[in-house]
Amino acid sequence: MYEYAGVIHIHSTYSDGTGDVPSIARAAAESGLDFIILTDHNTLKAKKEGWERVYKGVIILVGMEINDRNDRNHYLVVGLDSPIGARLSAEEYVEKVRERGGIGFLAHPDEQRTHMPEHPPYPWTAWGADGFDGLEIWNHMSEWMEGLTNDNKIQRLIHPLKSIIKPSPVTLRRWDDLCRLRPVAGVGGVDAHAHKADVYGFFDVEVFPYKVMFRSIRTYVLLDEPLDTTDPARFDETKWRIYRALRDGRSYIANVYRGDPRGFEFTATQNRRHFSPGTTLRFSPVEPIRLSARVPSAADLRIVRNGEPVAEVRGGMEIGYRVSDIGAYRFEAWKNGCGWIFANHIRITDRHGRC
Ligand SMILES: [Zn+2]
Ligand SMILES: [Zn+2]
Repeated sequence: MYEYAGVIHIHSTYSDGTGDVPSIARAAAESGLDFIILTDHNTLKAKKEGWERVYKGVIILVGMEINDRNDRNHYLVVGLDSPIGARLSAEEYVEKVRERGGIGFLAHPDEQRTHMPEHPPYPWTAWGADGFDGLEIWNHMSEWMEGLTNDNKIQRLIHPLKSIIKPSPVTLRRWDDLCRLRPVAGVGGVDAHAHKADVYGFFDVEVFPYKVMFRSIRTYVLLDEPLDTTDPARFDETKWRIYRALRDGRSYIANVYRGDPRGFEFTATQNRRHFSPGTTLRFSPVEPIRLSARVPSAADLRIVRNGEPVAEVRGGMEIGYRVSDIGAYRFEAWKNGCGWIFANHIRITDRHGRC
């Protein structure tokens, strides 16, 4: 398969980010990214102004982050041609995005930060909504803020990458539970704004420059064939191949600060056929399924079934597991206790589609 490195959930000067699109795209190109997805708040202006294109070799895609009237229930949306108003309830916009052929992910669904009263948490609360495609299982900004105290503030500002340790266990559990009922794709986001912060009271520093953020949480999409980034006439096709891979969970999330994940594989094999993350297979006692994963450098590896580890290898590069029961299976890799790679599920169901 071909893998493409992307960074999702970026704010530009079209909303509350401090960088304009060309400077963000330049940072992305210098970071070796294949694509970025801009998600300014409640606007698709970047798209309207022609920024959805290949720029310096990077595929720039424009989505948006929608919120409700109370600035709650942030929803990352791609694949829409015009914005959706901010006056709807979350249930309504989740529905509307689907109707209009868009794809949506719940942003930072379990955010809990409490340190800065001026930055309250924005968890997802509209669990009555059902038509979402996935969850942002890891958000750099949320994790950074959640662990913030007066004592570690300066440290965290100086080293914004070191303090990113792992996705919220609550979100992982939620993701595993949801995937038992239907496919729910995970994505990773940075929520980059490149804020200017008044740190010592007398000068401004740029907190989390885009280029630094592009070295943290990335989402890699897995495709059967390479993307064409040279022919503008094929841009829409390229874009939708990335979007569909994200929607279908043909992807994995990695914190590249802990190591380069390129070459990572998580595969189910049944009847000598190989299947990627995002696949749903039928469990059969006569056609056994084997799960295997390989990482490009040594790490602690784990295969998780319905939220519980069923196989573990410490300090290895390969892991295998013979499936003996239905379940939503996924893979994760850790380095020195820090989360590194989190792959989307391979769902193995009974004949009623349950796992
Ligand atoms: Zn948000
Ligand atoms: Zn955001």
